[in-house]
Amino acid sequence: MGQDAFDMATPQHFTSLTGALCSLFGEGTRVESAGRISGGDINEAYGLTLTGGECIFMKSNAKEKLSFFTAEAAGLHAIARTKTIGTPHVLGVGTDEGRGGFSFLLLEFIRGKSHNAGYWKDFAGQLSNLHRASTVGSVPNGKYGYGCDNYIGRRSQVNKGYDSWTGFFRDCRLEPQFRDAARYFDKEDLKRIVRFLDHIDEILVEPEYPSLLHGDLWAGNVITGNDGRAWLIDPAVYVGHAEADIAMTELFGGFPPAFYDAYQERIPLQPGYERRRDVYNLYHLVNHLNMFGRMYLSEVKRIVGRF
Ligand code: ADP
Repeated sequence: MGQDAFDMATPQHFTSLTGALCSLFGEGTRVESAGRISGGDINEAYGLTLTGGECIFMKSNAKEKLSFFTAEAAGLHAIARTKTIGTPHVLGVGTDEGRGGFSFLLLEFIRGKSHNAGYWKDFAGQLSNLHRASTVGSVPNGKYGYGCDNYIGRRSQVNKGYDSWTGFFRDCRLEPQFRDAARYFDKEDLKRIVRFLDHIDEILVEPEYPSLLHGDLWAGNVITGNDGRAWLIDPAVYVGHAEADIAMTELFGGFPPAFYDAYQERIPLQPGYERRRDVYNLYHLVNHLNMFGRMYLSEVKRIVGRF
């Protein structure tokens, strides 16, 4: 594969859940019991105990949502191949005709235990290593973006290749979200949004180097692994500016100071980060406006109004 070829592993694909279990764990393997797991807001999640005693994790959704799981598996693979931080091993994806038809993603089951001593410092070190990992082969036609589109929550995320980070963030992140949210804004708001987008390269800065991002890094997507360390789940990966991941950690509550102190020791945030943080998080807020409705509108307007 050439240096610029898009390097994405395709997960093993199955045409029934039973077929997947037999292929992965041996002929005759069935689900012995299934326990529903709460915590996600898009898919149904289960811990499956198999007839051979193994435990695996399954997410399922409508049959036509298979692409959610193919994208999630690709994202987990992209992070795993950097060998910087734990992610559940992907067993496969597929569809099944049972229960009216469904799609599924099968993962290694992560049986979290309590945090190791130094968990947050350690996590910051792992994340900074992810952000420093090579991105060669991840973006076919540019420096920022990704080799395929994926999803942020239940909405699609455009990942065209760009040489400019600020151009990428404007055209592939903010602009599509604002376009879909247009009905929430009056004429004056829309003018303000256009002006804001036109001047985005005066607000954001080009990174010192491109980084593979988790892309949806809030507390719910960091779980404690069997080793007591932080593991990443449910990514929306792309190549961008590392500070966009850090900004997202601050959006819904934030991590303890030990995390930010240790991260900054490894990768100091470029001056003016606090101002840019709100612009990065605007992407997630307008996405939430599009997914969940008006309760995110005043915060979105407040941020746009500040610029
Ligand atoms: P959604 O796609 O709906 O957002 P999540 O990825 O957040 O779903 O997962 C739903 C729940 O399952 C969360 O509580 C999460 O902690 C848990 N979970 C996710 N992956 C695993 C795994 N590999 N092993 C065990 N639990 C997991």
